[in-house]
Amino acid sequence: MDDIGSLFHILAIITDAEFEYCSTENKAYDSRMQECLKCGLCEKMCPTGAIKGFAKIEPTRCLRSVSETNPIPSQYEKLVGNHLLGCDICQTVCPKNALHAMSGAYAFPIKKLLTGDISELKDSIGVNYARKHRLRMKGITIAANMKRKDLLPELRSIMDSSPDADEKRASERAIYRLETDT
Ligand code: SF4
Ligand code: SF4
Repeated sequence: MDDIGSLFHILAIITDAEFEYCSTENKAYDSRMQECLKCGLCEKMCPTGAIKGFAKIEPTRCLRSVSETNPIPSQYEKLVGNHLLGCDICQTVCPKNALHAMSGAYAFPIKKLLTGDISELKDSIGVNYARKHRLRMKGITIAANMKRKDLLPELRSIMDSSPDADEKRASERAIYRLETDT
């Protein structure tokens, strides 16, 4: 959008207005895409190769959707890094966003993701994302990516006592990665 760039999220719109649907077959799509400078930075910087040339993206390779997969496929787990919700690198490198204020990174302790102490996140990422299981699964991978051996007790606790099979498997994998430095 002209005044705020493209780094924003639309969570919901309730309206009775009629819109022209934006698809690759219509003019509304063309006019928005003409604003792209075709500099290729987003494609070059995307860590997963999800962007394939002008206006083409493979959503299933984007870390935003990859990190919602349980468990995160092994070829992507290191690429998640310490990002909680996708990576947005394509947005932050885009020169069309350079003139717009960005809120910057929001740091949150990994330990709280593992223990489920996440209530303060509801205001910043919304109640839909701020669910204990959802964030614990991400925290488990992030703990391994960040080589946080100090979190081994929390990971072992999840592996031993979580009622959730996905959490058990993910924590077992994270413990293995931390103990073998992989
Ligand atoms: S959010 Fe990250 S992984 Fe997804 S398309 Fe952008 S740069 Fe690639
Ligand atoms: S970084 Fe922005 S301007 Fe450059 S190709 Fe990607 S979307 Fe277009």
